[in-house]
Amino acid sequence: MNEPSEIRWPLEPIPAELRAWIDHCAEYVVEHIGSLASQPSWDLEGAEALAASFTGPPPEDGAPFEQLLARLGPAVGKSFNTAGPGYLAFIPGGGLPAAALADFVACAVNRYVGVHAAAPVLARIESLTVDWLARMMGYPTTAGGVLTTGGSLSNLIAIVTARVAKLPESFLDGTLYISEECHVSVSKAARIAGFPERAIRRIAVDERYRLVPEALEAAVEEDQRRGLRPFLVVPSVGTTSTGAVDPLPAILDVARRHDLWVHADAAYGGFFRLAPGGESRMPGLERCDSITLDPHKGLFLPYGTGCLLVREPGALLAAHRGGAGYLQDVAPGTGRVNFSDLSPELSRDFRGLRLWLPIMLHGLGAFREQLGEKLALARWAYDELKAETRLALLDEPQLSIVAFAWRDAADTNRLGAELQRRVNARRRVFLSSTTIGGRFVLRICVLSFRTHRDRVEEAVAAIREEAAALG
Ligand SMILES: *Cc1c(COP(=O)(O)O)cnc(C)c1O
Repeated sequence: MNEPSEIRWPLEPIPAELRAWIDHCAEYVVEHIGSLASQPSWDLEGAEALAASFTGPPPEDGAPFEQLLARLGPAVGKSFNTAGPGYLAFIPGGGLPAAALADFVACAVNRYVGVHAAAPVLARIESLTVDWLARMMGYPTTAGGVLTTGGSLSNLIAIVTARVAKLPESFLDGTLYISEECHVSVSKAARIAGFPERAIRRIAVDERYRLVPEALEAAVEEDQRRGLRPFLVVPSVGTTSTGAVDPLPAILDVARRHDLWVHADAAYGGFFRLAPGGESRMPGLERCDSITLDPHKGLFLPYGTGCLLVREPGALLAAHRGGAGYLQDVAPGTGRVNFSDLSPELSRDFRGLRLWLPIMLHGLGAFREQLGEKLALARWAYDELKAETRLALLDEPQLSIVAFAWRDAADTNRLGAELQRRVNARRRVFLSSTTIGGRFVLRICVLSFRTHRDRVEEAVAAIREEAAALG
């Protein structure tokens, strides 16, 4: 008979095997990250054919680890290089390596943190990271919140929380207010939360793309006259198209007068509060009822890390608490909160570790410094491109986005799109576009911890040269 240590169960690697798998991963990851700067900023050549090669039913028998990992490398290559220094599209983040290792450990130990009783220390680590984020935004120590998978989920949880706090159970006459430049996830969340499209008001923006508080108040009063129930306004702290920050103090005044919940969508912009002078870029944030943050943007973590903060967390609990007989053993003790009572999720990953490890490892100072660098780089690119006569810059960067269009109104959309195509064709940087008031707008968004002056200089040079070649 075999000794127990010699028994090989089909799904449990023996220690030497596990170590070999980890070594293969380490080799791949270290080489991949080491070559990011020389990799193309995007590469989709042959991507469809490669995608089609991943097909067929799951195999009955397995294959060697190295062989499978070897298939992944080329698959990773056929994509927008979202982790590389040239990624200036949409809202970059980067993906700190330390966070990947935190995930590796968290998944390997596979502890459950959804309820406090199952892993009190790990649950504490996660709630500590939420406390840290709350302090970063200027919230009092009584604030709370929950880690989510991203800003979209945070916005959904916020809207449901505001709905429960401000409206009766039949809430269909409730109305909510966003700006024309608000992120699509907010109106999507409102619909998922049960509001019809007619409940969503889109308020005009000023010449710097910021919500106009007077227009907000006029819309609220008009709805009140019609017997509707205004209950929520969602200002943006960093719109996705241009990085505009809505005037929070004036919006908070309107909200006070009309008993509205104020939810700040700071998914992109909130963490700039950590940069030198950051608080003055978003005054009033600390007075909002709730805040969406995306650590997978402004803290450079891997995708799948969002956060919702709530100034008075009782409202979050009231909207999401759930109990059941089969959960009676893990009901929270007094003074404790189960994460499962703060969001729609019950079982989930231990996502606190991917915040805790990088912040403890690098120190917050490193994040402050990097965020300050991004603001300065956007400002530098703006100053350089302002001198370019073929381009029209939409606004001075309020955060780290520079938005610009082809100046000649006649052919602005065609030439703007052609400029984007040519710049991206060099494969050193990658820019995305947006539409504002019917106009095709290019944007540079500097947010990756891997993007530094040299790459932004390359971006500006490429834009200049291609603009000159075009006209
Ligand atoms: C990115 C973003 C969102 C959506 O967040 P996800 O993490 O992509 O779900 C919402 N609002 C703003 C302002 C954003 O930048």
